[in-house]
Amino acid sequence: MATAALPDRNALLAGRIGQELADLKLMMRALREVSAEAGIGKAAQQRFGMLLADATGQLQGLADDPQHARWADLAAEQDKLTPVKRELLAFVQGLLMQRSVLERDFVEATTRLLDDLTIRSGIKRDVLLSVDVSEFLAPSTSMMRFRFTDTTVWALPSMVHELGHHAANHLLAETKPEYLYSRPVVAHLGTAAVAERDVSDVTEKKARDWLNELFADVYATYALGPAYPLSVIALRAVPDGFDDDLGTHPSWNRRVVTMLGALHEMSERPSSTDQNARFALFADSVVEPLWRSTGAEPLPPDDPAAQQSAEQGRDMVRKLAANTPADLLYPIGADVDRLATGLAEQPAGPPDGTTPAQVVGAAWLWWLNHWNAGRWLTDQVSRSALRLCVMAG
Ligand SMILES: [Zn+2]
Repeated sequence: MATAALPDRNALLAGRIGQELADLKLMMRALREVSAEAGIGKAAQQRFGMLLADATGQLQGLADDPQHARWADLAAEQDKLTPVKRELLAFVQGLLMQRSVLERDFVEATTRLLDDLTIRSGIKRDVLLSVDVSEFLAPSTSMMRFRFTDTTVWALPSMVHELGHHAANHLLAETKPEYLYSRPVVAHLGTAAVAERDVSDVTEKKARDWLNELFADVYATYALGPAYPLSVIALRAVPDGFDDDLGTHPSWNRRVVTMLGALHEMSERPSSTDQNARFALFADSVVEPLWRSTGAEPLPPDDPAAQQSAEQGRDMVRKLAANTPADLLYPIGADVDRLATGLAEQPAGPPDGTTPAQVVGAAWLWWLNHWNAGRWLTDQVSRSALRLCVMAG
């Protein structure tokens, strides 16, 4: 029986490379169309385009010269592409969900808060937004996921923790006399991790991972004020496992002690309104007692481990103060008290000069005074705060 000519190795390889290139083209087209409809402009397309450009060029090179290409070359390029493709699809999925399923005010308020804090941190690169089963930040694309379906103002502090991871990587300092840019937070955490390895039985990597988490906590405390530790204790911490480290994260006890140290350091920062002493007051009269009321047993303040954690929180605040514009520090004061009091009355808009962070802070202050208000009023205040967040700044 006569058979048709079979494809040779080069034809099969060329076919697979061609399919990979066609997939990438289609993905970029989906991104272009969905992001254009969402009105988010060209920034995301450029970011993904740049991430895909190198691998696309390599694939094109293989396609142009199939007789010298190896199967392993194709597999290596596919391995590099997989995480970027996953991020791209997550971004498109997030945009589609924003359009059809998610609360518009929540998405806009989140974007508003994160963009505002990115600028106040002096960082040029903004974060992209998508959705998943838990919050996380992918450093390669700077894409942050929020937790589906947690679309209330109460979820926003966790997003600022994720922004803290972004800030750690993207805060830059000019170093003299070379006039090069260094990453002061990355350097600081690296040195602290080595010091910790030398005096304990944790590996340097684990110490660095934990310090990164603690820095993200301190960043969120610095930018959101007491709202962040309150939200952690109310919504996230697992107090009866308080002495267990969680692998990727340090123990909740250590996280809370570090945040308390940060609040004390923040209270000593110079401020034009002279209100910063309230941070320490809040730490001692609200955050610490609330943590105890969950059943957690914090180490006594004179315990060396507690002192070390508190000092690390203070160090991180000093790093932030030295490397970010002055207005990143949460503007605590009477304005926020007034805002909190009025939230349940559905105000038409925030007072002039209110920042998105202040609205989130005010919402948590309201919660502190009305934690037993019931779901209906709590949801109402969340909606009110999200709307004000969109209008703030
Ligand atoms: Zn984290």
